[in-house]
Amino acid sequence: MIPKSLIVIGAGPGGYVAALEAASRGLAVTLIEKAELGGTCMNRGCIPSKYLLAKSKQVVDALKLADSGITLRLEPIDMTQLWAHKDEILRTLRQREEQALKAARVKIIQGQARFISPHQMEVLRPDGTPEKIEADAILLATGSSIQMPPLFPSHPAIVNSTTIFELPYLPTHLVVIGGGYIGCEMACAFQGLGSRVTLIEKEPRLLPTQPEFEAAGALLSRSFEKRGMTLWTGTTVIAVKPLEDKKIQLSCSNGETVEANAVLVAIGRSPNVKDLALEKAGLALDNKRLTVSAQMQTSVPHIYAIGDLTSPLPLAHTASWEAEVAVSAMLGEKETLAYSTIPRCIYTWPEAAFVGLSEEEARKTGHTPRIDRFHFAGNSKAMVEGESEGFWVSITDADSHKILGGLIAGPHATELIHLVSLAIKTGLKTADIEKTIFAHPSLAESFRDVALRALAAGKKQLR
Ligand SMILES: Cc1cc2nc3c(=O)[nH]c(=O)nc-3n(C[C@H](O)[C@H](O)[C@H](O)COP(=O)(O)OP(=O)(O)OC[C@H]3O[C@@H](n4cnc5c(N)ncnc54)[C@H](O)[C@@H]3O)c2cc1C
Repeated sequence: MIPKSLIVIGAGPGGYVAALEAASRGLAVTLIEKAELGGTCMNRGCIPSKYLLAKSKQVVDALKLADSGITLRLEPIDMTQLWAHKDEILRTLRQREEQALKAARVKIIQGQARFISPHQMEVLRPDGTPEKIEADAILLATGSSIQMPPLFPSHPAIVNSTTIFELPYLPTHLVVIGGGYIGCEMACAFQGLGSRVTLIEKEPRLLPTQPEFEAAGALLSRSFEKRGMTLWTGTTVIAVKPLEDKKIQLSCSNGETVEANAVLVAIGRSPNVKDLALEKAGLALDNKRLTVSAQMQTSVPHIYAIGDLTSPLPLAHTASWEAEVAVSAMLGEKETLAYSTIPRCIYTWPEAAFVGLSEEEARKTGHTPRIDRFHFAGNSKAMVEGESEGFWVSITDADSHKILGGLIAGPHATELIHLVSLAIKTGLKTADIEKTIFAHPSLAESFRDVALRALAAGKKQLR
């Protein structure tokens, strides 16, 4: 049965897109959000982190001008103003979302939702008033929350990936625990603003949960260390001792003891399932997770779940695409999402981005992969921009010459990766890239350079 009404729980990039899409396709939509519109992404994730990285990069670039004889002096950073400007941007973005939802006639309710039966939910309003609502279909987009191990006491100088964006001072020494993308981005941003940074990761390398980024992680390690960051991989924190308001002592498994003015714990997130009373809807968890079909449908056919709550690739744009798939499925269509086509971006410098199949994935899916690499050291635009560190790796099918994937580590990688996305989506071959005219000088012409390498190597093989 095609539903006429839909309740969406959570107004992050998953729930927001689902609400708009469903409303535009004729469903009566109620969107329930317990905190702010925009979810983690807008308020505590993608946008605040990219804001901080952008400001830090601007500082780094300004100071680097000294290499060209233009010397600027950095005054102490006013953290209150830095965060106030971020908050202003977030306010504007939230207002835009609210306007779009209202224009689409989505009913927005502020409050915390939980199931009382498979079709009914209770929403607890901020003033404590409960409200009962029901709909033909329900979409869960409640996202994920920070994990804080019990080793770390509650202390003003011990922050997580939310409270870091309110830290009222620039730490002289910041210790970042966790070398995933959030830890790497924050370590990079604070180092750029002038903090001494120590980054601690328990696995032997940075970005350990993302094998597709192994080469990029190695480049980041070298680059961070060259800029003076202390990296301790294969290391865990074994004791945490607050000394003063802005002083924490950490003892580590590598035998080192370190004092920091702030400690960021960025060791992962877990799905927000526990407050939903899923059992009342007849839903059960599988290994602490809610499982869904390729159409985002749970084991209860009219209940769907998307985004960080369930996704194998917890990113904002994954959540938004899963929203489209779920709404289509409600309307009887059968869309699916190919997770390999989702670009994954890390906004450090050098930046890193990946899309498509890695060499290993290509092999596993029956391809004979061909790997070609071009270094930004050979790109003149990268040279004039003073960012010639990094490379463009192209993964192609050795038989059909189709582009299968790409890993870019270097300047503007998070923008350039979309060229690879388009190439994969449209089934382009190496020769198509070679025949495309790229402007000179441009960073994008590295795509053609890497294609030329593949073609030249192919010709050599034929001879
Ligand atoms: C520091 C940081 C940086 C990041 N950077 C990036 C990036 O650059 N690019 C990227 O793609 N991703 C990034 N992410 C990940 C991204 O934020 C998430 O993948 C994305 O927000 C997931 O969207 P979602 O809609 O599933 O959930 P969320 O955005 O988490 O939204 C879920 C919403 O549901 C609400 N909610 C939860 N339970 C209930 C309930 N019971 N009742 C009512 N409301 C409820 C929450 O308040 C929240 O607003 C970052 C994350 C962090 C923490």
